[in-house]
Amino acid sequence: SIVGAWRRYRSIPIVYRIGAAFVLGSVLGLAIGEPATRLQPLGDLFIRLLSMIVIPIVVFTLVMGMRRLSPGRLGVVGGQVVGLYLLTSALAVFFGLAVANLFDPGTGLTLTGGEGETESPPALQEVLLGVVPDNPIGAMAEGEVLPTIFFAVVFGLALAMLAESTTNEDVRNGVRTIFDVFEAGAEAMFKIVWGVMEYGVVGVFALMAATFGEAGPDAISTFAVLILTLLLAVVLQIVVVHLVGIVSLAVGQSPISFLAGSRDALVTALSIRSSSGTLPVTMADAEDNLRVDESVYGFSLPLGATINMDGTALYQGVAAVFAANLAGVQLGFGEQLTVVLIAVLASIGTAGVPGAGLIMLTLVLTQLGLPLEVVAFVAGVDPILDRLRTMTNVSGDLAVTTLVAKWNGAVDFTRGSWVGDVEPTPEA
Ligand code: ASP
Repeated sequence: SIVGAWRRYRSIPIVYRIGAAFVLGSVLGLAIGEPATRLQPLGDLFIRLLSMIVIPIVVFTLVMGMRRLSPGRLGVVGGQVVGLYLLTSALAVFFGLAVANLFDPGTGLTLTGGEGETESPPALQEVLLGVVPDNPIGAMAEGEVLPTIFFAVVFGLALAMLAESTTNEDVRNGVRTIFDVFEAGAEAMFKIVWGVMEYGVVGVFALMAATFGEAGPDAISTFAVLILTLLLAVVLQIVVVHLVGIVSLAVGQSPISFLAGSRDALVTALSIRSSSGTLPVTMADAEDNLRVDESVYGFSLPLGATINMDGTALYQGVAAVFAANLAGVQLGFGEQLTVVLIAVLASIGTAGVPGAGLIMLTLVLTQLGLPLEVVAFVAGVDPILDRLRTMTNVSGDLAVTTLVAKWNGAVDFTRGSWVGDVEPTPEA
């Protein structure tokens, strides 16, 4: 019966259904080409549904996370998170450069394509100043994550301090009510996330069909070495740094459990090419599967989606070698060091949106004096490269979050994917 079939369909974990849609959509796009791009709006709907929840979920989880986090603790957690984010990004560029030097992507290709893009990433001081919103509602309305984080943390801290210090019974009750309301709000957002993921099966199918309908086999064969180089570097970063280095050695847990707990976020990142857009799913995985406390992930994940981009940083290394090969020059040690510095700094200032890594590339190429036309040249294949970068970005955010949570006793290793139960278990 139809009802039975629907039930059987729903009983398959969502990540497998989305994975199948990913493969089938890609095949359809490659098979029929251009007409498949007409499915794009169905994919855009998925991205909009996710974007819709980003700001509310950040505000709700951050404010309620402050309930259990003293200001002193916040400083410690913040320092650990930022330190690890910088360290893993630097390692990522290193892997990108190492693998690219080995495979030399770009040799044998001739540069075609128009003028290089001139859009430039924001200056560091602008980014730092922009962390403080001049109008919190404006920041939320514009979907700016960093200033929203700032205001939510300050508001949550003020509430937590009031709860301890006030002698006014009404204020004390009010604080408790606000915390309760935000907690309920966060739970409601997680419900919406898992609901949106049901639509994701359609959305991902459409997105992949449109991507490969546009990029086609020609683009793939032209850029095959570049794609494979990035793929290998990304796998190295995830396996060596995230899985073995962080999860296995530092956290002392099984990488498989971590992957199982992160899989919805990783597949979504691969599909929608935006770590900010994936943020609601990343948080839902941290909450429901990895069993991290929101006092850590409520802060580390939105911050990571904005400033921590291992995949994007790594790509700068790969792309710099690619551009040098196209231009027929050799990158010296000093220049490769420059790439590491610029990539790490620029990845802090670039938002987790599709194609952000391409804008960053402008900065890196300018700094190295390499032709900016490379940006336009690779733009056609970027929708494929971007997926790998974004998945790595999200994996890095979750791995660091798990470690900082362990250091601060804010993760329950006896529940969720750590003990094999990966179906999101909605709280009763
Ligand atoms: N799309 C990536 C992200 O959202 C950024 C990039 O283009 O590398 O994380």
